[in-house]
Amino acid sequence: MASSDAEDALAQVHAQIRACRLCPLSHSRTRTVPGEGAANAHTMFVGEAPGFDEDRQGRPFVGAAGRLLTEQLAKIGIQRKSVFITNVVKCRPPGNRDPEPAEIEACRDHLLSQIALINPKVICTLGRFAAHALIDPKLSISRQHGTPRRLSGILYLPLYHPAAALHQARLIDALESDFRQLRALLDQEIDHTDSAAGRGHA
Ligand code: URA
Repeated sequence: MASSDAEDALAQVHAQIRACRLCPLSHSRTRTVPGEGAANAHTMFVGEAPGFDEDRQGRPFVGAAGRLLTEQLAKIGIQRKSVFITNVVKCRPPGNRDPEPAEIEACRDHLLSQIALINPKVICTLGRFAAHALIDPKLSISRQHGTPRRLSGILYLPLYHPAAALHQARLIDALESDFRQLRALLDQEIDHTDSAAGRGHA
C-alpha cells in the first residue's frame, strides 16, 4: 500500500477507536489512546494499556515508562517518531488495574487492523499482556524476553515492560540488552531497497 493510503486507512481505524463503545472502559476513559508513529514503520511497540498521563493526553507512553522507552530507542539510534507505538487496549483501565480478558478481546480487532495496515517487520511486545495477546498466551517473559519468534512473516520480540524496569533495577540491564538485540534484528531485516524507498528505520 502506498504510504499516503496507509496513513489514510490508519486515520480511519483511529477514528473508529475514538468512537468505540465495545467495552466498559469507554465509559471511564478521558480520551482514547489509539497509538502514534509512522504508518510505514518497520517496528511496532505494543504495550499493555494507557495510564493516567496517556488517558489525559490521548497519546501512548508519555509518562515515566514512555521516557524510558524513548531513551532506549535513542541508545540504539532510533527516533521515536519513526516507529509505531500502541497498546493492547486503547482506553485506560480505572486505577491502572490490569485489563480484563473481555476488554483485550473487545480491542483485538483495532490492534490487528493497525498491524495489518502498518505491516511492520518487527513487533516488540512490552510486558506479558502484549506477549500473551500477540505471541503465545503461555509465554514467560522472564524466560523468553529477547527471544524473537517469527509468526506470519513478522518477527515478534518479547521485551520486559519499561514500567517493570523502572521498579526493578536488574531489569534495566535486560531491557538494554534486548534493545541491542532489536538493533541487530533490524540491521538484518531491513535491506537497502527499503531505505532507498524512504522506509528507513532510524
Ligand atoms: N504503559 C503502557 O502499557 N502503555 C502506555 O501507553 C503507558 C504505560
